[in-house]
Amino acid sequence: MGAIELENIHKSFGAVDVIKDVSLNIPEGELTVFVGPSGCGKSTLLRLISGLDQPTSGRILIDGQDVTRRSAADRGLAMVFQSYALYPHMSVRQNMAFGLENTRMPRAEIASRIEEAARLLEIDPLLDRRPGQLSGGQRQRVAIGRAIVREPTAFLLDEPLSNLDAELRGTMRAELAALHGRLGKTMIYVTHDQIEAMTLADRIVVLRGGVVEQVDTPLNLFNAPANRFVAGFIGAPK
Ligand code: ADP
Ligand code: MG
Repeated sequence: MGAIELENIHKSFGAVDVIKDVSLNIPEGELTVFVGPSGCGKSTLLRLISGLDQPTSGRILIDGQDVTRRSAADRGLAMVFQSYALYPHMSVRQNMAFGLENTRMPRAEIASRIEEAARLLEIDPLLDRRPGQLSGGQRQRVAIGRAIVREPTAFLLDEPLSNLDAELRGTMRAELAALHGRLGKTMIYVTHDQIEAMTLADRIVVLRGGVVEQVDTPLNLFNAPANRFVAGFIGAPK
C-alpha cells in the first residue's frame, strides 16, 4: 500500500505554468525526496498529491485508484509542514487527536494511538503541554506524531526541518530516517537542501522550473547526473 503515480500533471496559476507535464512513479514504502531550488514547484506538487489543490490536467493514482477528484480527507495521506501547523490553544494530546474525534474511531483507540506515537517520538512527557511551551524540535515531533496517529498510507513532508537550527536538523533527519525504517511507509520528503536529499532518500526527484530533470538513487545521481543543472545542484562532478 502507498504506491503513488502521477500522470502528465500540469498546474497553472492564471497564465503561469508552475508544474509542466510531470509523470512519476513513487514506489510503495520508499522514501522519495523532491529536491530543487526555491520556487521550482515542490510544494505545489506535494499539495496536488495531498489533494489540498487540484491539477489543471493529468491524473493522480494511489495504489492504482484514480484519486484526482477525491478530497484530501479521502486520500488517506498525512501532511507535515515546515510551520508545524499546530493549534496553539490545544494541548499536544488534543492536537494529535484533532480530526480523529469526528470519525467513528473509538476514544480508546485514539488514546492508544497517541500514546504509542508519543513513545515512538519520545514526546510522551509533553502530552499535556501546549505548543507554546515546546521547543521547535518538540513541536515538529508533535506534528509528525499527529501524522502517525492517522496511520496514513503515505506521509508527505514539506521542508519539515527548515525551521530548526543546523544541529537539531541533523538529529531530526536521522530520526526521520529511522522512523521511515520502522514504519515502512511511503514518504515523500520535500527539501531545497541537497545534503538532506542525498542523506535521506531512497530515490531523488530533481525538479527545476516545474519540470522533472532526473529521478534516481542518490548514488546514481551523483555518479551519472543527467545534465549540468543536476550535477551543479547536487554538487556532483561533471
Ligand atoms: P517551491 O516549494 O519549490 O519553493 P512552490 O511550489 O511554492 O515552489 O511555487 C512554485 C511557483 O508557483 C512559484 O513561482 C510560486 O510563486 C507559484 N505559486 C505557488 N502557489 C501559488 C498560488 N496559489 N498562486 C499563484 N502562484 C503560486
Ligand atoms: Mg515550498
